[in-house]
Parts: sequence; structure tokens; C-alpha cells
Amino acid sequence: MLIQYDKLEFGILILESRFKILTSKFKILNSENMFTKRIGIDLGTANSVVWLAGTGVVLNEPTVVAVTIDDNRVVAVGNEAKDMLGRTPGNIVATRPMRDGVIADYRLTEAMLRYFLTQVAGRNYFFKPEVMICVPSGVTQVERRAVLDATLSAGARVAYLIEEPLAAAIGAKIPIAQASGNMIVDIGGGSTESAVISLGGVVIHKSARVAGNKLDEAIANHVKKHYNLIIGERMAEMIKITIGDALKQDGRTQQAKQVAVKKAEFSQSEPAGNATKMEVRGRDSINGLPRMLELTSAEVTDAMTPTLLQIVACVKSVLEETPPELAADIIDKGIVMAGGTSLLRNIDKLMTQMTGVVCHVADDPLLCVVKGTGIAMENIELYKRSVSRK
Ligand code: ADP
Ligand code: MG
Repeated sequence: MLIQYDKLEFGILILESRFKILTSKFKILNSENMFTKRIGIDLGTANSVVWLAGTGVVLNEPTVVAVTIDDNRVVAVGNEAKDMLGRTPGNIVATRPMRDGVIADYRLTEAMLRYFLTQVAGRNYFFKPEVMICVPSGVTQVERRAVLDATLSAGARVAYLIEEPLAAAIGAKIPIAQASGNMIVDIGGGSTESAVISLGGVVIHKSARVAGNKLDEAIANHVKKHYNLIIGERMAEMIKITIGDALKQDGRTQQAKQVAVKKAEFSQSEPAGNATKMEVRGRDSINGLPRMLELTSAEVTDAMTPTLLQIVACVKSVLEETPPELAADIIDKGIVMAGGTSLLRNIDKLMTQMTGVVCHVADDPLLCVVKGTGIAMENIELYKRSVSRK
């Protein structure tokens, strides 16, 4: 009898442990598990970058969608659509769904997000991905909802939002949770966001709808006004990247120039060496024929200066409103710059000159925001206070 009781107890024990294993397996299946992909997206005005938790950057494509005019059908997204910009036949238009950092066309943004999610997570109806999207600090509540809704209807199980300055700071390896002020300036394609953060939140921020695209426009306008040559936005951007400089070259000493040339010889990352002249192709605005001309770096600097000063003004206005304690921290640590336009030659020097605070460009400025978004998604518990969810 005693033996039988023991047997029974033993059986119950086994059953119980099996049940435990089963429930733990069920828990793994149910929670953020190996089947649910976690994705961070930086939906920029110029480029959208996608981060897959555990892997890193998996997609980096221009934020462009091509649609047919008559039935509004999406024909291409990303790189393929960007190649169509300005070259589309009559029935197709290639447009940018995000303007100035916010959704300009909801349907196209959703199409864009859907494209990213299927590229990265596949069409998996059982395990939908969890997605964190980064939005500029200045967006309204309505715009936030629009982004969250677009993400959910594009196929996400849960959608989180993180503010861009926080994401950029996390990506630039700034310890955001400390009780100490940090200033971060993100100069992208459509907007410049400058913010002071402390204790995991944004204390002050300003955004200006001037950034890389406005610089391209300024260059195109200059060429048109002075040489009667019409150039496309891609040519204007190429000019900026190849010979653009935030400061006039003649301001540099001969020695500095030589050092720069040497550096350019050894380093691949230096934007197209230190070229100071470039051949520009476009269409003559008077006779309508294709034409070429040579443009110098100094002229491009002149063309860009008013726009650059607007960017600087945005940064200054944040500094002016920063409480003294935080301002002291910022003077100690300097301002960190992120975003593609912070790659413009000497823009950090211009910013330092104009603000009186040392400015330096973060590592990988184009990927800072997506890195931060991805890291926040991977460590959601840690950054819970800094994100909102739907
Ligand atoms: P967004 O976040 O708005 O998508 P990004 O941070 O991706 O913008 O930056 C895109 C902008 O950076 C574009 O205007 C592009 O012309 C500019 N850019 C990229 N590389 C360089 C460079 N080497 N020099 C100057 N501008 C650059
Ligand atoms: Mg950006």
C-alpha cells in the first residue's frame, strides 16, 4: 500500500514537471520569442533605414514611392522608385511620402512600411513583428497616431514610437538616463531637430524645416540665377556632396589644405576627396539645350550660406532656452551632431564657430537614429519610459 502511494506520488510529480515544461514552452511561444521579429525603423524624409534585432541594419533605401496616376497603384518603392524620380513616363509619378519629417501621404507611407515589413519579416501571419518607429519630437498627437496606425495596418503586431532626439542619442552612445544634460542635433534631409535631453526625456527641442534638401535647392537656384542652367535635384545633391563646404576654402591655411589632401588620399570615407571644382550638367533655361559648366566650391558655399545660417539659428534657439544647469553640462560635453547633412564638409566647424560650443559629428551619422531605435527595441524594458506604444 505504502509502495503504491509512493508510485502515485511519483507519477504526480512527473506529470507536474511535464506540465511545467509545457507551460514554459507555451510561455516562450507566447512572449517576445524567436518567432516574433523585432524591428526598428527610422522613417526619414530622405532615407529609411530598417534594423532587425539581433542582426543590425538590414535595409537602407530612399523614402520614395512610385504610383500610377490613373488608378493610384504602387509600382515601386525605395531604390527602384528613386531612380524613377524626374524620369517617369506620363502615367507614373515618383513621390516622397514623408515631408519635413512627418507623413505627407498616409497611403504611401503605409505602402512603404508594408514593403519594409515584408522584406524583413516575410508574409508571416502568425508571428507578426513588433515594430518601433522613430518620429521627430515636434510631431503632433494626430501625426503620432497616424504613424502608429500606418505601422499597425502595414502588418505589425505592436507599434512603438520613440522620439528622434532620444533615438539619435542612444545611437550615438550617449547615456540618456543620467541626470545630466546632453544636446543632440540631427540634420537630415527635410528637417533639423535640435534637442536637449536629460533623465531619458526631451527637455527642450526645436525643429526647423531646413536641412539637406533646402541646401540642394539653394544650389540649384544659384546655378539657375547666375548661369541660366536648370539642374535636377539629384545633380544638386551630387554637387553638395562632392564639392560642398560649409566654410570657404580660402579661409584655411595652406598647411591645413595639404593635410586635408593627404588625408583624402588615405581615407575612403572623406567625401569625394577635397575636390574644389566640378562639372555640372543641366539644361539651358534660354535655348532649352543640354549644357555643361564648371562650378567651384567657393560659389557653392556662398549659395548654401543663408540656409546654413537658418540651421545654426535652430540650434542657437535651443541653447538660448536651456536652463543654466543643463547649459553647463553641454558646455562640458559639447554638442553631438547626427543625420546625413552633418557629413557636409566643415559643418561642425561652422557650428562651433557660430555657437561657441564645441560640436562634433557622431560615428556613422546616417545610421545613428536607426541604431538607437533598434537598441531601444532590443531593450524595451530599459527604455520603457522613453517610448509610447499602441
Ligand atoms: P532623413 O533622416 O531626413 O532621411 P538623412 O539623415 O538620411 O535624412 O540625411 C539625408 C541628407 O543627408 C540628404 O539631404 C543628403 O543629401 C545628405 N547627405 C548625405 N551624405 C552627405 C554628405 N557626404 N555631405 C553632405 N550631405 C550629405
Ligand atoms: Mg533622420
